[in-house]
Amino acid sequence: MDTLEQKLRLQICDIGRNLFNKDFIAANDGNISARLSENVILTTPRAVSKGYLEPHMLVKVNLQGEVLEAAEGYRPSTEAKMHLRIYNELPEMKGVVHAHPPYATAFAIKGEALDKMMMPESVIMIGDIPLAEYGTPSTEEIPDSLMPFLGKKTAVLLENHGALTWGEDVMEAYLNMERLEYTAKLTFITRMIGGERELPQHRIDELVALRSFYGK
Ligand SMILES: [Zn+2]
Repeated sequence: MDTLEQKLRLQICDIGRNLFNKDFIAANDGNISARLSENVILTTPRAVSKGYLEPHMLVKVNLQGEVLEAAEGYRPSTEAKMHLRIYNELPEMKGVVHAHPPYATAFAIKGEALDKMMMPESVIMIGDIPLAEYGTPSTEEIPDSLMPFLGKKTAVLLENHGALTWGEDVMEAYLNMERLEYTAKLTFITRMIGGERELPQHRIDELVALRSFYGK
């Protein structure tokens, strides 16, 4: 096994533990993947708690969804299709994370996008977080619902379901999930104390201009 594959296997397990310990997923929910080469990804297996992943459990799949390598008893996530859509559409993206973080999922169930520009870091690093239309898990409906946002966003709420984030590597995809949930949590808390106050437009413009400085 080459070092890149070893590194990615360990990184995915580490991210799984973080998602689990931060209460972003329950039981066997959620899935994580990373691009290994142009046409090959590593994905978490179905029906396994991502808090207890081990490197050998990850499954190697090509971008057509065919299993290339899997330890006995392990099959790719049933939600791998939404990961594959991102890798197929966006060659520069190398990591995808799906979770059900509670604050973000509450907004997804309510049907409200997280589009208030409240904090400098959020405006620079992630911008507004749209709501992708509801689809039945494991069908093409969720991948199809992502299409309007591909190439424009790196984080979306999945209506009545959870959240999906992606990035130029799997750690960036995971950090986008943290950013998304943090935005949802802050929106919830500020509403408990009278409601959020957005930054004025000229301040938002200043932050948007800073994105390239932060590599965004
Ligand atoms: Zn899900």
